[in-house]
Amino acid sequence: MSHVFPRHCRAELPSAVAGDGCYLIDAQGKRYFDASGGAAVSCLGHSNARVRQAVKDQVDQLAFAHTGFFTSEPAEQLADLLIAQAPEGIDRVYFVSGGSEAVESAIKLARQYYLEIGQPERRNLIARRQSYHGNTLGALAAGGNAWRRKQFDPLLIGVSHIAPCFEYAERQETETPAEYGRRVADELEAEILRLGPETVMAFIAEPVVGATLGAVPAVEGYFARIREICDTYGVLLILDEVMCGMGRTGHLFACNGEGVRPDIVTIAKGLGAGYQPIGAMLCSAQIYQAIAEGTGFFQHGHTYIGHPVATAAGHAVLSEMLERDLMPQVQERGTQLDAALRDRLSQHAHVGDIRGRGLFRGVELVQDRDSKMPFDPALGLAGKLKAAAMAQGLICYPMPGTRDGRHGDHVLLAPPFVMEESDADLIADRLSAAIESVIT
Ligand code: PMP
Repeated sequence: MSHVFPRHCRAELPSAVAGDGCYLIDAQGKRYFDASGGAAVSCLGHSNARVRQAVKDQVDQLAFAHTGFFTSEPAEQLADLLIAQAPEGIDRVYFVSGGSEAVESAIKLARQYYLEIGQPERRNLIARRQSYHGNTLGALAAGGNAWRRKQFDPLLIGVSHIAPCFEYAERQETETPAEYGRRVADELEAEILRLGPETVMAFIAEPVVGATLGAVPAVEGYFARIREICDTYGVLLILDEVMCGMGRTGHLFACNGEGVRPDIVTIAKGLGAGYQPIGAMLCSAQIYQAIAEGTGFFQHGHTYIGHPVATAAGHAVLSEMLERDLMPQVQERGTQLDAALRDRLSQHAHVGDIRGRGLFRGVELVQDRDSKMPFDPALGLAGKLKAAAMAQGLICYPMPGTRDGRHGDHVLLAPPFVMEESDADLIADRLSAAIESVIT
């Protein structure tokens, strides 16, 4: 009997024993093409020689030194490399162990920043509905997925939630995309005014929404308006790039591709590419200076921040991406994957939308294409599709709808950046076979 506490207590999962490029191999020797990189993690595939070597070397050199006492060379080098690529104005990196910790850090940093500059009344956070920012209590409170929050609601801090920017599901026929983007961005201004501008500290959003909506970019103009509103009211803009960052969209920082400048940005997943658990929160020089010149320390921390082995892995991952110039390849393979998906699925009676950026793609499943009506959540389509895809030797990331009757099940694809051109066909073929087998 297994003593592991699994994610799903009743699921019988195969045991993964090895990784080989884009494939994972189970104990029976079955090979699975990892078209979602787990959950947008394994951006360099599963057997990158450089990252493996960097991890081994770092363990031999220095496994751990607490950041209360020391900095370390891999942390310094990774921070330098990240800042050289970071969005304009972003100047400092705070390393953590994953995405939720990065988001928690961002929320607390925003609060401490306003204390430092003498605006203690700024404590309100605004986020978006149907969003996901992590599972620790602060990050869960920021998230706007009603189903994920439900059990823990009494434990969560108050956060306001405005509409996401989800053109496929929400734009009215009478609106142009620009009008729609303006309407939903203006909800931020309305909420700031309702709360009182002097009480609002930050707005958090994903530049391209990952797990909850399925690779959904905002319409053009949306984030420009969001930035304008944040500037008008002195509200910090936190962009959560835990899933869409680190090159996933074909830009190292997704916000650079979307044309929006954050005050704080969070990354994780692809930063360690699965070789080590690592995340980071990056912030502007202005925020850092306020803390450096005020209290002198960020009132936050975890034992493993700036872990030498994790940062060595991150440094090797980022060096590999930059030296192999993988961003143009992500864009090219993304276009090929999009074309293969459209070829197999765009006429399918139950595929409502195919979308995304770079190697971050979403396929929306609907009961009816015209009305965009989702499938009944009770059917458990996402779970069935996951199992059917695994039977086909494909790992993809089907997610249930938001269970509010508005957004249905979707499949998220986030394959390794090192996939071959022919893999686009393989993914599309196996996914369409899996869809055929569960939707009859
Ligand atoms: N933010 C976003 C946008 C995410 O997609 C996730 C994870 N799916 C998180 C935060 C939380 O990251 P982690 O699971 O590493 O804590």
